[in-house]
Amino acid sequence: MIKVTLPDGSVREFAQGVTPMDVAKNISEGFARNVISANYNDTTIETSTPLTTDGNLTLYTWNDKEGKKAFWHSTSHVMAQALEELFPGIKLTLGPAIDNGFYYDVDFGDQKITDADFKRIEDRVLEISREKHEFKMRPVSKAEALEVYKNNEYKTELISNLEDGTITFCDHANFFDLCRGGHIPNTGIIKAVKIMSIAGAYWRGDEKNKQLTRVYGTSFPKQKDLTDYLELLEEAKRRDHRKLGKELDLFHFSQRVGQGLPLWLPKGAALRDRLEQFLKKAQKKAGYEQVVTPHIGQKELYVTSGHYAKYGADSFQPIHTPAEGEEFLLKPMNCPHHCEIYNARPWSYKDLPKRYAEFGTVYRYEQSGELHGLTRVRGFTQDDAHIFCTPDQLDAEFKNVIDLVLYVFGSLGFENFTAQVSVRDLDNPDKYIGSVENWEKAENAIISAAKDKGLNYVIEAGEAAFYGPKLDFMVKDALGRSWQLGTIQVDYNLPERFDLSYKGSDNELHRPVMIHRAPFGSMERFIAILLEHTAGNFPLWLMPEQAIILSLSEKYEKYAKKVLDLLEIHEIRALIDNRNETIGKKIREAEMQKMPFMLIVGEEEEKNGTISVRRNGQEGKGNITVTIEEFAKIVNEEINKTLKQF
Ligand SMILES: [Zn+2]
Ligand SMILES: [Zn+2]
Repeated sequence: MIKVTLPDGSVREFAQGVTPMDVAKNISEGFARNVISANYNDTTIETSTPLTTDGNLTLYTWNDKEGKKAFWHSTSHVMAQALEELFPGIKLTLGPAIDNGFYYDVDFGDQKITDADFKRIEDRVLEISREKHEFKMRPVSKAEALEVYKNNEYKTELISNLEDGTITFCDHANFFDLCRGGHIPNTGIIKAVKIMSIAGAYWRGDEKNKQLTRVYGTSFPKQKDLTDYLELLEEAKRRDHRKLGKELDLFHFSQRVGQGLPLWLPKGAALRDRLEQFLKKAQKKAGYEQVVTPHIGQKELYVTSGHYAKYGADSFQPIHTPAEGEEFLLKPMNCPHHCEIYNARPWSYKDLPKRYAEFGTVYRYEQSGELHGLTRVRGFTQDDAHIFCTPDQLDAEFKNVIDLVLYVFGSLGFENFTAQVSVRDLDNPDKYIGSVENWEKAENAIISAAKDKGLNYVIEAGEAAFYGPKLDFMVKDALGRSWQLGTIQVDYNLPERFDLSYKGSDNELHRPVMIHRAPFGSMERFIAILLEHTAGNFPLWLMPEQAIILSLSEKYEKYAKKVLDLLEIHEIRALIDNRNETIGKKIREAEMQKMPFMLIVGEEEEKNGTISVRRNGQEGKGNITVTIEEFAKIVNEEINKTLKQF
């Protein structure tokens, strides 16, 4: 008998040789029907693999990340079979699962695959799938494996690096492939498949090697899942912040200025400014003080902070001046500057905490291939702040920061989020600077704050920064994608390096604790995420313009102007479209610009002192005719629904 421990800690006894599928059936027949993959003692195995020792078993369904991985990797085997049949003589290399699907890197030799082939590949994959072939692992000797693949230099290279006795093939139908394992029970579960694209890829990612063709695909257990996925991709394309940023005149990239350096156009700058004012107002209430620091700092500053040793080689290189030996760095972080602000005078424990905030622009070198719209740039502005406090104040300060972050998310319509506490990797102590005792204190402070604030959090070992543990917020956007926003970080190390101190009640000097925090993270990335989350329909309070007055003809220009003045009194941001165009065209263009309210004025409205209101995106509901005062009430009510007082 062997003892099998399940994730809930329960232990069940089985005869030696029991398979994960047997265990699943022992739990429940209904559950077993959905089980597609398994893990035993930290090794991915098939659901048909006999278990011979005691161990921990996890069973996966399609709803688990690992289940999807097995599903997609298995589909890559079926696609490889289809490709071999349709393109005889090709050489297969590697075919892993990736996020949202799988790929297979193939040497097509003299043959060529194009988009036009996708359909017949999909058809063949589905045909094979319907035949319900089991995936079976088979051990082979190194000599046999080398013989089988003697005409495939890629597989030969892979096999050469494997130890004899550890090599396995995976069989299904009349197809086999060199593989470590991790497959679904049979091909019959694959009900929908889509070949997504082809791209060039060097063997082993090295451009000195031969270029192969990477065939990307995805697959699902239901046709409906595939349809939904493709719709989601289309919607993501429509919401791409690079596309919306152009359509809404928010930002621009110029090759002349340089890659990864966004230029904010007037409307984008107004949007940024509104976000900054919103946060500044809340921060003021929370006791922060604004500071301003330069864009460069002496190289020594970053040698002191430790950033230079850690990131110097991969960063923008030092700026030299005519003075010999003088070197400056573009500021990659604001923290060292803020430490020196703290150091500008001596402090007593009665003065703490000090909370310094700055919308500080920083510069980090990213390889050009890594750059992406506003989400990966080389220059960006952090909504940064550093809190210097006594160890006793840490808990309360950390909780205050969590309150601020939650306020920011609530006001911007991010309702779905989780938190991640990133702690050390205890097996790799050399990766981190600072004492073990301080790390423990900091990690405990974060976990207790997350608990007290009722956050839905997970603890991730090994994800901490080199100078301290942190709490990250992972936000789900309207398309269900996860983004990391809002970081709060405890740091015992920079106070040490910058020799920060305060005089305690005992009249002795003590080290303050430092908290780094940025609710938005970076203004650039945050606006990109907000654009994709809202599709450009920002919360009303944030909209650069909240309404546009559309006159039915030039005759009503004067009345339109009067309406504009009245809106201004009510602090509603509006503009007038007085062009000699049809009202239909004016409405369409205003909708394209995501204008929240369209206020139509003509003869009736002028006579009665009213406006005809049309809400963007609610064309079915028809217009309502109201006075300016009534309209102002509607606007304020909508704003107050999202923008609460901090
Ligand atoms: Zn495999
Ligand atoms: Zn910092």
